[in-house]
Amino acid sequence: MSETIRPVLAGRRALVVGVANDSSIAYGCAKAFRTAGADLAITWLNEKARRFVEPLADDLGAAIKAPLDVSVPGEMEALFETIRGTWGRLDILVHSIAFAPKEDLTGGLLNCSAEGFAKAMDISCHSFVRMAKLAAPLMTEGGTMFAMSYYGANRVVPNYNVMGPVKAALEASGRYLAHELGPQGIRVHAISPGPLKTRAASGLKDFETLLAEAAEKAPVGELVDIMDVGYTCAYLATPFARRVTGGTVYVDGGANIVA
Ligand code: NAD
Repeated sequence: MSETIRPVLAGRRALVVGVANDSSIAYGCAKAFRTAGADLAITWLNEKARRFVEPLADDLGAAIKAPLDVSVPGEMEALFETIRGTWGRLDILVHSIAFAPKEDLTGGLLNCSAEGFAKAMDISCHSFVRMAKLAAPLMTEGGTMFAMSYYGANRVVPNYNVMGPVKAALEASGRYLAHELGPQGIRVHAISPGPLKTRAASGLKDFETLLAEAAEKAPVGELVDIMDVGYTCAYLATPFARRVTGGTVYVDGGANIVA
């Protein structure tokens, strides 16, 4: 498909947070933005992750490469300072990260500890609010922000457990941020991809069953891939979508409409 993509994001600057490897949804976003002509800033979680992420960032010609663990005080501020110093501006932000302690994720919501719930909420949801706060002043020509959600935000998906309430909070945060940032020309989208075989997904029990059910349920009759998610974000970042904000955009082959 890439041959047919026009450089509709040429000159746009995109920060993509959440690349762990070439299966990551964030990698699909980064690749789609690059194909559409954008410049990239790409982060890795820590030194262990760096050796997997940096070669992918180099392949995509990322202008900015930096560490970001949202639970490390000061690291997010340092990243945005680098972006301000290098680009002076930002147009696109992708938050594609999630975490819950394994013992709090796997035992059902009833058995999720207060600490585990707070940690999952902080890394998977409130970090998006913190990022939006630092990104907004750099979006001097308007901008677009994305956070990755999932169907489990709205309907019970067995084994999704604490991540259901966390993604519900993420989608609600997106709506409030869209309301607060709209006057500055900044649009905010929750993206809800269908299930994808990634490292984060491998922590979910019976994930293979979820994949099989999603493929069967989707009107288009097949699973989505990370480029489907990336191209949707690329489209939403263009002026073609300039009056679209605050909602949850499903990239799931239509599975969410089927009972
Ligand atoms: P992934 O494992 O490739 O990406 C998860 C990312 O979260 C990793 O890059 C990891 O480094 C990052 N992360 C975890 N803790 C962090 C921290 N403290 N600071 C910074 N980064 C941190 O898996 P993925 O499936 O691409 O997940 C990306 C997003 O998509 C998540 O929000 C996930 O919930 C969401 N999502 C995934 C699916 C799916 O089926 N894979 C479906 C819908 C939504």
